[in-house]
Amino acid sequence: MPSATSFLNHVDALKVLADYSRPDGLSVTELMDSRVHGGLTYNDFLLLPGKIDFPANQVVAESRITRNVVLKTPFMSSPMDTVTEGSMAIAMALLGGIGVIHHNQSSENQAAMVRTVKRHENGFISDPVVLSPINTVEDVLDIKARLGFGGIPITDTSVCGGKLVGIVTARDIQFRDPPTPLADVGVTLLEANAILRDSKKGKLPIVDASGHLISLLARSDLLKNQTYPLASKNPLTKQLYAAAAIGTRPADRARLALLVAAGLDIVVVDSGQGNSVFQIDMIHWIKRTFPTLEVIAGNVVTRAQAAALIAAGADGLRVGMGSGSICITQEVMAVGRPQATAVFAVAEFANRFGVPVIADGGIGNVGHIVKALALGAGAVMMGGLLAGTEEAPGEYFYHEGKRVKTYRGMGSLEAMEHGNGGVGKGKREQWENAATARYFSESSAVKVAQGVSGDVQDKGSMRAFLPYLYAGVQHSLQDIGVRSITELREGVKAGSVRFELRTASAQVEGGVHGLNSYKKRLFTT
Ligand code: GDP
Ligand code: 5GP
Repeated sequence: MPSATSFLNHVDALKVLADYSRPDGLSVTELMDSRVHGGLTYNDFLLLPGKIDFPANQVVAESRITRNVVLKTPFMSSPMDTVTEGSMAIAMALLGGIGVIHHNQSSENQAAMVRTVKRHENGFISDPVVLSPINTVEDVLDIKARLGFGGIPITDTSVCGGKLVGIVTARDIQFRDPPTPLADVGVTLLEANAILRDSKKGKLPIVDASGHLISLLARSDLLKNQTYPLASKNPLTKQLYAAAAIGTRPADRARLALLVAAGLDIVVVDSGQGNSVFQIDMIHWIKRTFPTLEVIAGNVVTRAQAAALIAAGADGLRVGMGSGSICITQEVMAVGRPQATAVFAVAEFANRFGVPVIADGGIGNVGHIVKALALGAGAVMMGGLLAGTEEAPGEYFYHEGKRVKTYRGMGSLEAMEHGNGGVGKGKREQWENAATARYFSESSAVKVAQGVSGDVQDKGSMRAFLPYLYAGVQHSLQDIGVRSITELREGVKAGSVRFELRTASAQVEGGVHGLNSYKKRLFTT
């Protein structure tokens, strides 16, 4: 054994550490120098741990996803017909992320989905549906069937702003004949107040000093507020944020007008290769026509592509080409970029203009999410990871003994055939196919697939799965020693958050190995 005097004094450890001219590991610019290491994927590197002096549940996962939209979690779901329709978009928004409703369907269907998201949760409902005493029970039933609610204020003029004379609820009309006028069933204001106070249920109409209806407050919204503290809401209207995708063809302009009328907040211009005159023209047109709409453009993987879309007015950029789990673009087209390198290159450029980037595709676990954020992404977009949840479109079925759902690329032949002139749902569909447009193949005689169709395993409900991703991100940031995504990005920029490359054998070491068999359970609720 060496004598104790040959060692440095242990109390000097931190001082000696500070004397090292080079810190452990690599800075992000050293890691991402593709002339030295080639293009990297998420699996090619790790972050080094920092110091923990706070609990994981205090980590703030708030992040900016477009110029003007900040979410409490950095999660987005892909605009794909096996991932995001109304249920997924509502679940994503309630749980703190945002789901982008796909456009491989008629514009009317897509707009109806946007409307269900916008009507799902409200603060004060400033434009409540209102009836007058001469309307009938049938009118209320019709509203309930179309819009999903039956608590309706009654004013003398049948519009908001008229004098409030009563309120009907679903219960008041339960056993009444449809032609009965509401004057005969509507509860008067005095009665309504008493009901609200005693039963602790229903709606609270808000009136001005002279008794004119100003807005409506639903008790169910107060409850949703407590259950979903992270919900993604427009700060002005308190309604859930709604996002939807469109293509870049002339017909998409009419589609967008319908979506905006339904209350859309964010539009995603959906294209496999974003740097096209079609997309640039579309962004110009959107910015002129709907100046308050947030526009996410893409997809891009290079600075030059990003510059073109930022110059056109994009408020956010989707980054990824060929990195998706269902994608064969890199194989077939020989074009694309490894995802970690693409995210870093584009984010480094776009963030200088205040334009957030969304790391789209190739997210297979919590670690990938944190790595994308560390490389400068404001959010991650997930397809395959969410496609097996209950809220994704489609039914479960069994494949080789496992409960699964279909998941297909929007550039798969299956998605391209569903739609314009295709065989989807057994009839000629009315809309222009979104999948062919995304990959510019609508005019080709031969359709070249850029994606595959397959299935993914049951992941249960988003209500358990998204909180798992959220808690996972919080624990990861705790290990790195940063209290928020903002701190993570500042640490990476300043060089205090460090990285290490993983060799092929390091990747084997980092996975489960050496066991005869094992079970992988990811979380409990
Ligand atoms: P109801 O009792 O049948 O009216 O339904 P709930 O109170 O359970 O749910 C109504 C939901 O629809 C709430 O989340 C409201 O914010 C939402 N909503 C959106 N617009 C309106 C509206 O104009 N009138 C009413 N009553 N609810 C609306
Ligand atoms: P995942 O999360 O499954 O790895 O990837 C989802 C992403 O892949 C989508 O958000 C979209 O950008 C991309 N994508 C969806 N369908 C296709 C396709 O058919 N081909 C290609 N190249 N990319 C696709």
